[in-house]
Amino acid sequence: MKSLEQIRFILVGTTHPGNIGAAARAMKTMGITQLHLVEPKIYPSAEATARASGADDVLHNAVVHNSLAEALAGCHYSFAMSARLRHLPMPIMNPREAVTKFEGFAEDTQIAIVFGREHSGLSNEELDQCQYLINIPANPDYSSLNLAAAVQVIAYEIKMSFQPTIHVGRVGETRETITNDDLSHLYEHFEQSLKEIGFLDPANPKNLMRRIRRLFNRADLDRNELQIMHGILRAAETKARK
Ligand code: SAH
Repeated sequence: MKSLEQIRFILVGTTHPGNIGAAARAMKTMGITQLHLVEPKIYPSAEATARASGADDVLHNAVVHNSLAEALAGCHYSFAMSARLRHLPMPIMNPREAVTKFEGFAEDTQIAIVFGREHSGLSNEELDQCQYLINIPANPDYSSLNLAAAVQVIAYEIKMSFQPTIHVGRVGETRETITNDDLSHLYEHFEQSLKEIGFLDPANPKNLMRRIRRLFNRADLDRNELQIMHGILRAAETKARK
């Protein structure tokens, strides 16, 4: 598997047009755009467009079909999303296990994720057209998510497996890392400055330098912070020399 283009979301028999719009939005936020609709009750609809709120391109490009079989044409694998666990025996997995499976598929594999109706889910005849079941492990006493919420959960897992973005440090900040040599140099500077300003007694150094090393080893300094520390030490030295 290579790209999010290989993933098709199929909504079967959706009753509320608002859910179609919300599903389009959930998909687009995760970079998934192939939306297929099987016999939607009301579509197109102003309510769907309103709930898509900016994902109207996904909605506009949605392909409407008369049957699930038609919507599945061209797909190599189909995964049925189901809140229910009492189906005929069929391989079942959670979203994370499902995306792990996707990672093993050949590069040009087309995958369908099939969602059921708000009130009744997918029929047995529809389930028979899918190879695997995906269940979002939820509260056993209240396990049925809103359709668009279920779309969001699986879309997020897919996104995290295809294009994980890991933020190092904090948002909006790029931290330039430093090396061990930079830290050694800082400790030398500390030692020399602390002597010069009379804080470190060379005749009785105790554990001061070890403690300073421990402190800055823990601190995960970046280059900017390293320069600030050198600057403070230089300023203290200058003051002490006056
Ligand atoms: N009452 C229906 C629930 C439908 S919810 C039923 O019993 O099947 C609408 C759709 O959202 C479901 O058909 C399924 O595709 C998806 N969905 C909702 N909750 C889910 C869950 N916990 N795991 C997987 N899919 C879920």
